[in-house]
Amino acid sequence: MTKAKASVLLIYTGGTIGMKEDPSDGTLKPFDFGSLMQEVPELRKFALKIDAYTFDPLIDSSDIEPGMWKKLAELIRKNYDDYDGFVVLHGTDTMAYSAAALSFMLDNLGKPVIFTGSQLPIGQPRTDGKENLISSVEIAGSREPDGSPTVPEVCIFFNDLLLRGNRSTKVDASGFEAFRSPNFPPLAEAGIDIRFNRDLIRRPSGEAFSVSTEMDTAVSILKVHPGITERVVEDILLGRRTRAVIIETFGCGNAPSRDWFLDIVREASSRGKILLNVTQCLRGSVNMDLYATGRALKDAGVLSGGDITTESALGKLFFLMGKSDDNEYVKAHLEQDLRGEISI
Ligand code: ASP
Repeated sequence: MTKAKASVLLIYTGGTIGMKEDPSDGTLKPFDFGSLMQEVPELRKFALKIDAYTFDPLIDSSDIEPGMWKKLAELIRKNYDDYDGFVVLHGTDTMAYSAAALSFMLDNLGKPVIFTGSQLPIGQPRTDGKENLISSVEIAGSREPDGSPTVPEVCIFFNDLLLRGNRSTKVDASGFEAFRSPNFPPLAEAGIDIRFNRDLIRRPSGEAFSVSTEMDTAVSILKVHPGITERVVEDILLGRRTRAVIIETFGCGNAPSRDWFLDIVREASSRGKILLNVTQCLRGSVNMDLYATGRALKDAGVLSGGDITTESALGKLFFLMGKSDDNEYVKAHLEQDLRGEISI
């Protein structure tokens, strides 16, 4: 039976949305959540039960660590049965990383987890924080006529767009249109109404919701560029403590074809390292069969990230490597679509 009033837990982690100017030095510093509710009295007008949880300490999202994701995932697990949806207020700088990571950690998610934040603090006159917060709360509390949540996914809501979390990337350091999901259409758009693209929204498989908090962070990112040196490639690909390397390549998955480069890739591969090809382009996909330079990477044992974002690739690797010490297990799952993060 549908409960009369949907309930939403607002989790405030920090970030610009809840910051205030410190008169002593003019910098932005987090202020307490009680003040945030005062700034948005509109929230009280929803036919929703809204509770709040504030992280202590509040942090600028540049300081986000997997330990925080674990805390967040555990908080959601603990409150899962008591709320219809969750809104996570988070700094924009690493929001795409956190949303992607959480999408892997929360398996068979049956409720909305909506990340949002703002470019201007909520206390400022032209803030985008109010709109983002109010719409996120509405989406988190939205239910279908049968009582099921409308969007049981980890998402980012920003500037009228609801995006799949593990497809999102921050594209603007200062504009209000800060996020895009270049390889996947928005799950909803907010205008006079919130229009959901229901055909695109993932539904849980029917298995029980579960949370994985083990993560292995032994991942490096190698961004190839003209002029990259043998030394740098060697240091990153053959680093002793690195289990996996995301190779950010040109175009549809191409990298320098010089012998020394491919020799190092082959050496890393023969040492059992997990090598994942992710394109530097915002839109489109890795296809290592198109050019000889891409094919050489594939032949050297590099796996295709398809159209995955770097943020999502990182979260997926942390998650899969946390699940098993066996690199072959990780490789076997890496090219599979686990949470709607890649188009197969
Ligand atoms: N530095 C801030 C953060 O990511 C920026 C923001 O919130 O937009 O926490």
